Amino acid sequence: MKLANLNGRGTVVTESGGVDLAVASDGRIGPDVQPLYDDWGAVRAFAAGLAGATATPFDEMQLASPVPSPRQVFAIGLNYASHAQETGAEAPSVPATFTKFPSSLAGPFDPVELSGATVDWEVELVAVIGVRADRVTEDDAWTHVAGLTVGQDISDRTLQFAAAGQFSLGKSHRGYGPMGPWLVTPDEFADPDDLGLGCSINGEVVQDGRTSDLIFSVPRLIAELSAVLPLLPGDVIFTGTPAGVGIARQPSRFLAAGDVLESWIEGIGTIRNHMVARGG
Ligand code: ZN
Repeated sequence: MKLANLNGRGTVVTESGGVDLAVASDGRIGPDVQPLYDDWGAVRAFAAGLAGATATPFDEMQLASPVPSPRQVFAIGLNYASHAQETGAEAPSVPATFTKFPSSLAGPFDPVELSGATVDWEVELVAVIGVRADRVTEDDAWTHVAGLTVGQDISDRTLQFAAAGQFSLGKSHRGYGPMGPWLVTPDEFADPDDLGLGCSINGEVVQDGRTSDLIFSVPRLIAELSAVLPLLPGDVIFTGTPAGVGIARQPSRFLAAGDVLESWIEGIGTIRNHMVARGG
């Protein structure tokens, strides 16, 4: 199942368009998107019966974040050996965890207002919790996942490294967490632990990796994080970025107004964000 946030309304995406959950269920489910994750089993069961429902074509520009207001957002640094290597850091022995504050999240085609001259890209697989996870094992972890989506962990490198490290703030400027275009449930993937992902700037591919190279896989992250605190329905985990970020390039390269950043993951889709100058 693919679940989209179409103009603030929970929408199941099919080959021919979208099915509005609230309309199809006579108001029993939806329309608000975030609460769907609190009753995820019922949403899945209802959506499974929508195979023959009439879908309406929609404009992708009407899509908002498939997880608009999570209670917790986890983000993992240095989770690909290739990226740890390019930054000169050692691969971590526990997940290097910070947050993107929830109000920094944005829609899949929203413009990104640049906060300065050192704003960088990080394409990431994003896992969304569907069933509360408290001290779950790696083997059981996928059953707690609602689905996967594409995310960009946009990072203001100057603020990120200010004051001996401000990862959470430096990655939480307004709009610095575009996600989408929709959530895809784990059963839709032949192997949800091995997905190609990448991003391009103005058509030039700058990141190209596979999630099978994650140091801490999605199940491992859920086991490690839920050993510390419960993960709640609708929580979001940005799982880290592969090699190819701008700060690690020789010379460094950063996002500029006018740039078009496209980010994709195999089996999910592509998000596209135009970079705009502050106040532009
Ligand atoms: Zn990141």
